Amino acid sequence: MQLVWLRNDLRLGDNPALLGAAAPRRGVLAVAALTPEQWRSHDESPARLAFWLANLRALQTDLAAHNIGLQLLSAAGYAELPQQLLALARETRVSGLWFNREYALNEVRRDQAVTQAFDAAGITVHPCDGDAMVPPGRLTTQAGTPFRIFTPFARAWRRELAATAVQPLPRPARQPAPAPGPPVIIPTELPGWQPGYRDDLWPAGGTSAMRRLQDFLDGTHSDYAAQRDFPGDAGTSRLSPYLSCGVLSARQCLAGVAARATGPEWMDDPWVNEIAWRDFFRHLIAAFPGLSRWRPFRPEIEARIQWRNDQRFWQAWTLGETGFPIVDAGMRELLATGWMHNRVRMVTASFLTKLLGVDWRWGARFFMRHLIDGDFASNLGGWQWSASVGADAAPYFRIFNPVAQARRFDPHGSYVARWLPELARVAPRDRADPEAAVAAGRPPPIIDYRKARARSLADYQAAGAARQHLTSR
Ligand SMILES: Cc1cc2nc3c(=O)[nH]c(=O)nc-3n(C[C@H](O)[C@H](O)[C@H](O)COP(=O)(O)OP(=O)(O)OC[C@H]3O[C@@H](n4cnc5c(N)ncnc54)[C@H](O)[C@@H]3O)c2cc1C
Repeated sequence: MQLVWLRNDLRLGDNPALLGAAAPRRGVLAVAALTPEQWRSHDESPARLAFWLANLRALQTDLAAHNIGLQLLSAAGYAELPQQLLALARETRVSGLWFNREYALNEVRRDQAVTQAFDAAGITVHPCDGDAMVPPGRLTTQAGTPFRIFTPFARAWRRELAATAVQPLPRPARQPAPAPGPPVIIPTELPGWQPGYRDDLWPAGGTSAMRRLQDFLDGTHSDYAAQRDFPGDAGTSRLSPYLSCGVLSARQCLAGVAARATGPEWMDDPWVNEIAWRDFFRHLIAAFPGLSRWRPFRPEIEARIQWRNDQRFWQAWTLGETGFPIVDAGMRELLATGWMHNRVRMVTASFLTKLLGVDWRWGARFFMRHLIDGDFASNLGGWQWSASVGADAAPYFRIFNPVAQARRFDPHGSYVARWLPELARVAPRDRADPEAAVAAGRPPPIIDYRKARARSLADYQAAGAARQHLTSR
């Protein structure tokens, strides 16, 4: 009997750990651990947790069809897992433990502790790589160091894709006998956590995820480059919640693109480039453990920035009451659905850090606590990029003007009117404008954009000067 430990890899196909555990056809038991206190300390959102549980339930049914049973463990935190997993392994007489690696520091340490306990008990541990398209650590610069810049990373990443098959792994072998006993009941919510997520927007399960991938690739994908920046249109895949819980893998996504292409040019597809960003952020947290402790990739820049952390500004941003329509619409979308369009994530993050002077960590944690697609590596990467303290980040002088952004990417104001219905009465061309919004009953803007921009530039320029001084010594 083999034990496979499911985490954020809730899928049957293209799951290396599940496939490996099932290969001997001598019985497989799957296990998932509920660790609510740990998750809370990691800012897990109730929406993502509920979505994860719903996908675990769907997977339980799929596993049963393959004669693979599922057990649940309940522990406050990761520290209890080595003993709990070992007790289960002994009780069920498994000879091997399989899992797909995760790359953030606490998860790496958790897996090391479990591996030690199993090694000591003489049970073989089989760590696999199933989360990223190219496992973190595999790609390095010519000097053998981790990539710090996206473009050369993506070049090496594409070379790797060209050299390896993008074919997803098959489903696991059906086991000889059904799992004994009745299936465990997987809760829909956990005590003390707010219930629910929008299951009309993100129906759970591998079949739903695969259908959405196929619909996207057969439809919107062909226009992705032109449409992806317009939050009022459904121009992106909205697959992120599925990728975040591993209901769908990066490889399954890329295989879908490759299957519709005639040659290797698919690797230059702009949507494929976004999956490369996802891999890049995983590569970074694996190579630079300090990132998992909320350290910036560029501490020398952050060292000179005085975060003002004004509570009034913070409150207004979290509630979607800054008076800047695109920012407020984005925050309303996040609060109502657990998701926000990428362009608006960039605008709201730039607004909070650069124009309001609030520490990017506050924003990153707030996003994690509300996103249904919360993903530590991508969220950290996005926030550090926006605050110009990340690897290959936006230059410090890139400060999004929320009005210009809205005019350009929401030209008819359809996005802001959807999330701020009071603006529906305002003429479409004026919906980006804070003054027009005030006339329609919205709160006045909390900052003067020009002054806030000048202050931010002065802060970051001081940081840049400090960096030059340090490098020249
Ligand atoms: C401040 C900030 C915070 C973010 N937090 C998260 C997060 O917690 N979880 C998350 O999955 N993404 C995050 N992103 C990245 C991006 O906004 C989302 O992945 C994207 O909006 C999801 O929508 P989609 O599935 O329609 O994406 P698509 O445009 O269809 O892209 C396909 C997939 O590629 C990946 N992807 C796309 N853009 C990025 C990116 N910039 N960085 C990393 N991966 C990307 C996602 O897995 C996405 O599902 C963040 C970006 C910013 C600027």
